[in-house]
Amino acid sequence: MAVLVLGGAGYIGSHTVDRLVEKGDDVVVVDSLVTGHRAAVNSKAKFYQGDIADKPFMRKVFAENPAVDAVIHFAAFSLVAESMKKPLKYFDNNTAGMISLLEVMNEAGVKRIVFSSTAATYGIPETMPIKESDPQKPINPYGESKLAMEKIMHWTDLAHGIKFVALRYFNVAGAKPDGSIGEDHHPETHLLPIVLQVAAGTREKLQIFGDDYNTPDGTNVRDYVHPFDLADAHILAVQYLREGNKSDAFNLGSSTGFSNMEMLKAAREVTGKEIPTVMAPRRGGDPDTLIAASDKAREVLGWKPAFDDIHKIIETAWKWHRTHPNGYADR
Ligand code: UDP
Repeated sequence: MAVLVLGGAGYIGSHTVDRLVEKGDDVVVVDSLVTGHRAAVNSKAKFYQGDIADKPFMRKVFAENPAVDAVIHFAAFSLVAESMKKPLKYFDNNTAGMISLLEVMNEAGVKRIVFSSTAATYGIPETMPIKESDPQKPINPYGESKLAMEKIMHWTDLAHGIKFVALRYFNVAGAKPDGSIGEDHHPETHLLPIVLQVAAGTREKLQIFGDDYNTPDGTNVRDYVHPFDLADAHILAVQYLREGNKSDAFNLGSSTGFSNMEMLKAAREVTGKEIPTVMAPRRGGDPDTLIAASDKAREVLGWKPAFDDIHKIIETAWKWHRTHPNGYADR
């Protein structure tokens, strides 16, 4: 048995590949390297560079790796703000990419897929914390593209028996504790890496996007989870499908919310730096608060996140940032 990881050179994908290899699993990685980094992929994994929507290429990957019995799919674009400006880019790469992938999986007889979904599929939640059964009404094309992917998997399961687990992540932050792999986006848009760039002096100021939200301090509240814990959830989800369980969706979060101002305060404490900050207008597509109810993943998958302290999460990201101030330095 082997696992095929699509998008395995990306931030969460590379942590999952690393954890699978550490467990002794056979791992095959496909990544286009449009946003991923070759250096992030554990050298014990077999690597193919290519696009998951390229059917002849994907047929070749499955044909050359007959031991693959499960796919973990991270290969998607994930920036809310960009998706508001370029929705078709998201529906093409994410949603159409999923259709193409499922067709090739069906031909190859591979009947298990674990999929990176997102809290952005819920839109503006009616109750907090958010449960898996809550309404999914995305407010941006990114969330809509991922919700469509969940629905496509549902109907493909009914027709072709391809079982899926959709893992709806909340906010991801942190790096491998030894500092060897971490977060590196170009351009960087995420809160914690930007905070740490300001702490390191490579960016002048942090802009906080909006202080008039309906939250205790007026800034957005988010639920942060470490990629190491996300990786474990994916591995448990593969096991869940291999045991013959039904298709399902699970939230992955810490069930605790931190406002952008609280994140800034914690980062100041961890780094000992001042981190100059200015208030800026709201960014499009941000709901006030997103906090996960993630008891279902704990109960059904047996997920036990190890990182339950935001300071520890920030410490790992700070270690990565100090040892890799220019990320993987491959672009
Ligand atoms: N944010 C911010 N300044 C930045 C980057 C992000 O205030 O330079 C805010 C953003 O508006 C949101 C939170 O930080 O409220 C988390 O955003 P991020 O882009 O990290 O993740 P997302 O929630 O979009 O997945």
